[in-house]
Amino acid sequence: MYDLVVVGAGPAGSRLARGFAAAGHDVVVFEQGDVGTPLACSGHVSTDIWEFVPDDARERLFQNEITGARFHTGGPGSAASHFYKNEAVSNVIDRVELDRTLAALAVDAGAELREGHTVVDLTEFRDHVVVTVRGPDGTRTHRTRLVAGCDGPNSRVRTAVGLPEPGELLHGVLGFDDEPDDEAFVDVHLTVPRFFAWRIPRGDAGVEYGLATTPGEDVNERFERFTRGYGVETDRRCSGLIPIGPPERVTTGRVFLVGDAAGHNKPFTGGGILYGMTAADCAVATVDPADPSTLDAYEERWRAELAAEIQLGHLVRAAYSFPEGLQRAGMALFEGEIGVHMDRPTTLFSREQLRALLSR
Ligand SMILES: Cc1cc2nc3c(=O)[nH]c(=O)nc-3n(C[C@H](O)[C@H](O)[C@H](O)COP(=O)(O)OP(=O)(O)OC[C@H]3O[C@@H](n4cnc5c(N)ncnc54)[C@H](O)[C@@H]3O)c2cc1C
Repeated sequence: MYDLVVVGAGPAGSRLARGFAAAGHDVVVFEQGDVGTPLACSGHVSTDIWEFVPDDARERLFQNEITGARFHTGGPGSAASHFYKNEAVSNVIDRVELDRTLAALAVDAGAELREGHTVVDLTEFRDHVVVTVRGPDGTRTHRTRLVAGCDGPNSRVRTAVGLPEPGELLHGVLGFDDEPDDEAFVDVHLTVPRFFAWRIPRGDAGVEYGLATTPGEDVNERFERFTRGYGVETDRRCSGLIPIGPPERVTTGRVFLVGDAAGHNKPFTGGGILYGMTAADCAVATVDPADPSTLDAYEERWRAELAAEIQLGHLVRAAYSFPEGLQRAGMALFEGEIGVHMDRPTTLFSREQLRALLSR
């Protein structure tokens, strides 16, 4: 009997596995593919990321430093409002390498990692959970005290135990141009229904173009038009889903969700790497596999940590759908130096933001 089965070795699953294994619990992580692949993420994160990896990982992961963003209400070449800090706002990192680094940390802490193993079903009993896993040697069942569904936006764990889905799943697409670019500004284009298109300079790794929008929109056709506007041909195209939540509940008697599976994402950017790992830390701090009632404390802790930010993030996102004139007026009002933290919209009301506004 395991103490904890973790389903999925993305950032949330590996961070969680590391924490529980370090606390002396018997942990196995089942990952359906190879850790880190296929890529479907920009790896654009706040500098808080460096608190989650060892110092020597920085050299492998770091691609570019970003100090600001140009917001356009039109497409490529249109006028933009500039928002910036006089220091790094965020970093662009190698997302595949991030996942590998985090998984290695989990293994070093004592977790067992099984790649090429897909969790196909699970059944909860009063005192344990049975997890069915398909691997290279066939299909096996495993008994565990708890299961953590860290299996991404289309979570099979979530469906198997009947937990609610996040309110919305956006469809994101990315493509790359190999021309090196170490500019310090990203471009954001509010030209896509209910979300945006972006251009991210990734240093020697080239430039990434992407967009996300509501399902039903022709994402690929919009992406083609967007990159044509920039006059580039991209390759290594990839796509993925972005959950916008969170759902009302992410725990059952012995199962809990973390990361994209739980809608631990910023509604105004879709970013979920840091929210997922923060929620994983909340679980490590509160959940005892020998006492499943502690899952209630996890539900409370992650909401205390993230719910206000997510709520405010919904309001920021609502502005993407304002009429263009209103968007322009709003941006003109706030344009310039900013004091906000990119993961914490509540800092819109911080002393730093006030100081930045008054210093203009
Ligand atoms: C186009 C796009 C761009 C993005 N850009 C950013 C960004 O710049 N910054 C940011 O912070 N976030 C970004 N995100 C979001 C980010 O990718 C996710 O929030 C993050 O990956 C969530 O981590 P996770 O560990 O919860 O899930 P995932 O990273 O999705 O990991 C889930 C893992 O579970 C595995 N799995 C799934 N089902 C099973 C199963 N049944 N059995 C075993 N294993 C399974 C998968 O193979 C996967 O490895 C982006 C997303 C998209 C789609």
